[in-house]
Amino acid sequence: MKQFRNNVIRAGLGALYFTGAHYLLRPIFSGVGAIFMLHHVRPHRDGEFQPNHHLEVAPEFLRAMLAHLRSRGIDIIAIDEVHQRLIERNFSRRFACFTLDDGYRDNRDFALPLMREFEAPFTVFVASDFAQGTGRLWWIALEMVIAKSSSIELAIGGTMTRLDTSTPALKQAAFDRLHDHLRSLPGEGDIHREIGALCARHGVDEAAVCRELCMSFDELKPFAQDKLITIGAHSITHCNLARQPKEIARSEMVTSRARIEDALQRPVVHLAYPYGDKIAAGAREFALAQAAGFKTAVTTRPGMIFPESADHLTALPRVSLNGNYQDTRILPVLTSGAATAMWNGFRRIDAA
Ligand SMILES: [Zn+2]
Repeated sequence: MKQFRNNVIRAGLGALYFTGAHYLLRPIFSGVGAIFMLHHVRPHRDGEFQPNHHLEVAPEFLRAMLAHLRSRGIDIIAIDEVHQRLIERNFSRRFACFTLDDGYRDNRDFALPLMREFEAPFTVFVASDFAQGTGRLWWIALEMVIAKSSSIELAIGGTMTRLDTSTPALKQAAFDRLHDHLRSLPGEGDIHREIGALCARHGVDEAAVCRELCMSFDELKPFAQDKLITIGAHSITHCNLARQPKEIARSEMVTSRARIEDALQRPVVHLAYPYGDKIAAGAREFALAQAAGFKTAVTTRPGMIFPESADHLTALPRVSLNGNYQDTRILPVLTSGAATAMWNGFRRIDAA
């Protein structure tokens, strides 16, 4: 099903490109700028089973995007300046803003050198548990369990279910099913209990995943001093905020901010909601982030930035640079706003 959806999106992006429809749509949907969302930036790895591949782009693709923006004369600006331009209603020039979620070490090793080449600022949103080495990146632990197993047994909806994971295609199907199952569980604790049991049974060191992939606070200190870099908050535990009681959701926002500020000795005024889609961040979270004093908060809802976005500073949409669509021909489609307009059913603001 996921594969089918990927193919439909790819076909849609291709159609927009080949028909030139993105040029026609541009005056209406390109908005005043875009906030791009990335996760990992690292060289392509071989191997058929890469279920988290949508979360990584190759350095060459990022370079192509930066070159494309520069050639179009689009300003590449920091998130602080996005905020500034929105509140001042200064839309004389189109802008792009780069944001990278979770705080992966490859952001420093592969993204930073490239961004320096283009003198392009960017924001890294840090989940404070990840930087403390105690975070649980369950989607990667799940990938590791399935990668090394030939079958998996667990209870889904109260029924003991055995999933064949002996081929890459079966592994992908099992991943999709378990990923959806885990995200549908009522609490974060439920996800962690299930994943913890799977890791124990299949010999995966879940605690090592975070330390292996994420920058520690000690690594973030020099990284954050680079003038191109803004550090934002991304909660403490990387939980689905909308599923937490209000006080916990609030604490995930303000305590993560306090921990990052304390460790890095610099103010943190921007937030990215973990997962960031409609089931993880809604009106209550937007109000909480605003009350907590964040200047901006970004979602993963697809969309361009419009002048009206100034009225929804804690519900900003982003344009995903998705690892499954690293075709440089779609770059003008992404910056035209046609793709996100299509995904949004041609609405400009979606902040409810
Ligand atoms: Zn995240």
